[in-house]
Amino acid sequence: MQNDHERSMAYAELALNQIRALRQGAMPRNYEIWYVYATGYNAELNKAINEALAQNGRLSDADLEQLHDSYLSHGRTHERIDRIGARVVNEIDDMMSLLSDALGTTATFGDNLQGASQNLSIATDHEQIKAIIERLVGSTREMQQANHALEERLSSSRQEITNLQASLEAISAESLTDPLTGLGNRKHFDRVVTEAVRSATVSRLPLSLLMMDIDHFKSFNDNYGHLTGDQVLRLVGMTLKQSIKTKNVPARYGGEEFAVVLPDTPLRQALMVADDIRRVVMSKELKKKSTGEILGRVTLSAGVSTLKPDDDADALIERADACLYSAKRNGRNRVICETDPEFRSVAPAKVA
Ligand code: GH3
Ligand code: MG
Ligand code: MG
Repeated sequence: MQNDHERSMAYAELALNQIRALRQGAMPRNYEIWYVYATGYNAELNKAINEALAQNGRLSDADLEQLHDSYLSHGRTHERIDRIGARVVNEIDDMMSLLSDALGTTATFGDNLQGASQNLSIATDHEQIKAIIERLVGSTREMQQANHALEERLSSSRQEITNLQASLEAISAESLTDPLTGLGNRKHFDRVVTEAVRSATVSRLPLSLLMMDIDHFKSFNDNYGHLTGDQVLRLVGMTLKQSIKTKNVPARYGGEEFAVVLPDTPLRQALMVADDIRRVVMSKELKKKSTGEILGRVTLSAGVSTLKPDDDADALIERADACLYSAKRNGRNRVICETDPEFRSVAPAKVA
């Protein structure tokens, strides 16, 4: 797409400018670091770079190597999952051999007990009985030591598995997050809306959905560049996070489209939430960070739908989307729901 092309070229230019300014080699590793830095997608990387630059004013080759290792090469999900998988396999191997050792120790102890009991039954004097008991005490002590080692190893293994589980959860959360805005991504939205429809159908509580789209965003990008456009997407993402209650789930649905799932929320209340968001976004005067240039304002249009008895998630999304379309057709910067007269007047005829 032309826009994607322009955006990636803008990132590329920023990356090369950084490499030039800091007199670094333009090898793929450095280019990747500065390209990702320019996108702003990897907040941790940017923070680490900014801190290192603030401290030393430069990045050595070793710094770059370390940044790449810590924030980029390890960032590849499949590699991280493979590494976790390998650690789980190792852990299981260790546990299996430990368990088989423990079983061996227990069997030997059992044999010793049996031997002792036989010997006791035929023992005739005090010295013999004393020797048998000493052997028994010895093997009991060995058994205790083996048990103690096993317990320690089990507890460290439990800790290791808890850590691995946390790493897997972090990867899973990352795969559901939109890196630009930090909101849930489309995959996350799909899961949330499906689950919300299922749960509302069972509980018979109302469920509403907002779909929002920034108005004339293409010309905003054309006028001020994609990087500034990205800042606006971040701003809208932040506004969504701040304006809604915890039970409601915002997501970046696609490019400059956002959605909010509102469980236990009737239409009228959902309309108010949508209008609050619309007003807050409209009230922000945008300034270019680098130059302080005033960029004006952006507005957004929204469509709101509420679950009907025979709806599935697709029907709910389609109706919110149709309302959004009608908000655009009726002049943008407004919220429309399916009971609004504007919606009926422009809703496309239903195809049987
Ligand atoms: P409308 O009011 O009808 O929604 O007009 P519009 O210009 O917002 O709609 P259109 O669908 O024509 O353009 C959407 C634009 O959104 C195209 C693209 O440049 C921009 N866009 C999509 N994703 C991103 C992104 O991640 N970053 C930036 N900067 N722009 C994006
Ligand atoms: Mg759009
Ligand atoms: Mg738009």
